[in-house]
Amino acid sequence: MNEADSLRLASALERLGYTPVDRPEQADVVVLNTCVVRQSAEDKVYGRLGSLKPLKEQRPERVIGLMGCLVGDVLQDPALLRRRFPWVDVLMPPSEPGPLLELLTEQGLTDEGRAIEAAEVARRYRLQDGDLLLPARERGALVLAYVPVVLGCSHACSYCIIPYRRGVERSRPPEEIVAEAKSLAAQGVKQITLLGQIVDRYGLDLQTSDWNNNNPRSLADLLRQIHEIEGLERIRFLTSHPSWMTDDLLDAVAELPKVCEHIEVPVQAGDDEVLSRMRRGYTVDDYRKLIVRIRNRLGDNQGGHTSGASIATDIIVGFPGETAEQFQHTYDLLVELRLDKAHIARYSPRPQTLAARRFPDDVPLAEKERRRKALDDLQSEIVGEINARLLGQTVEALVEGKDRRKGRWYGRTRTDKLVFFEDERDWRGRMVNVRVTWAGPWSLIGEVG
Ligand code: SAH
Repeated sequence: MNEADSLRLASALERLGYTPVDRPEQADVVVLNTCVVRQSAEDKVYGRLGSLKPLKEQRPERVIGLMGCLVGDVLQDPALLRRRFPWVDVLMPPSEPGPLLELLTEQGLTDEGRAIEAAEVARRYRLQDGDLLLPARERGALVLAYVPVVLGCSHACSYCIIPYRRGVERSRPPEEIVAEAKSLAAQGVKQITLLGQIVDRYGLDLQTSDWNNNNPRSLADLLRQIHEIEGLERIRFLTSHPSWMTDDLLDAVAELPKVCEHIEVPVQAGDDEVLSRMRRGYTVDDYRKLIVRIRNRLGDNQGGHTSGASIATDIIVGFPGETAEQFQHTYDLLVELRLDKAHIARYSPRPQTLAARRFPDDVPLAEKERRRKALDDLQSEIVGEINARLLGQTVEALVEGKDRRKGRWYGRTRTDKLVFFEDERDWRGRMVNVRVTWAGPWSLIGEVG
């Protein structure tokens, strides 16, 4: 989501006549876009903010912006941030570059000549005013782009800070999303990923008056519309919540060739009591049935099939009160389901959340780490086995770029597996068939042909 927000900000700056530079020391405007989902992410922000202070002192006319979840929506107290970081000139809530753009315009810090040039480029691509003009260095080169479709979140999982910082759930109007996806495709983007905290709830908050015969009412409808866009080769979406994954959505994934069979659907824990205190709204058995439903509808990628659904999950270990036995239930669930990826995080108490207010953070750090590592080791073994079955098979990858260090091309399969290969030709942004010659848990290596 932050990558998407940063790209939108870069696009808006381009239209004011700004061009990108490589390092903050060379910049007239520096923006730090921030994540606070765990304390470790927040601590990183403070470190980076500290390193911007001397840059402001060296050149006081340099504009420093702070954006994203550290700023939060209207509920946060901006005075607190201003007092703590007086070298920051402007605060921007998540997905809202407005305050910086206004400041630059008001203070005449725009470059009219360059802005006119940018407007001409936008016209050549037939972009409207609100459309995304990719920054010059990305235009015609960017292969993957993210398009937020649901902003904010209203679910309020007991551990999660996002609803407090990104505000209530808002689906973007479908015509805005389709226009944005079209403009990206026109500028060479091959894959777009639709984003939402609960992306499978897309449209549920739109008024029925927004609906007409052509307007999508669900993520499935939206996928069908975006599928029509010429030039786009692949479409993905994340993150799904298990309770909102409809058969209609799975049908759309199955029927639309551009939509990849890759489902990101976090389970968070494999124990009903923990799930209930997390306020997730489903049981382990519901999740188990969902995985069966996904595999029945999209195919099972176990057993060396190059097609079939690939499923990724998120897990939190060491949630307050999680016993060794409850953790074992999560471990056993991963053994049983054999998913393609698991992002595993140690529980981190977040301000304002129900869990932080009600439940003591009582699993010691060393024990959280032990649980994290146990799941990580298990998962790499499982994925290693799943991937090993691809040896000797041919997979189709969309090539994203060239690895700077080793000079190999890299891309991803439809199932989101990273694959490297060597070749003299220019493959960036193209589909390639690669025969897999080596397979590990994190990547594949192959040969063209
Ligand atoms: N809305 C999305 C993304 C949430 S943030 C979703 O529900 O999947 C991404 C992941 O961070 C979550 O899935 C969760 O596993 C993890 N996470 C969120 N809050 C956390 C916390 N307080 N401590 C540790 N991990 C957390």
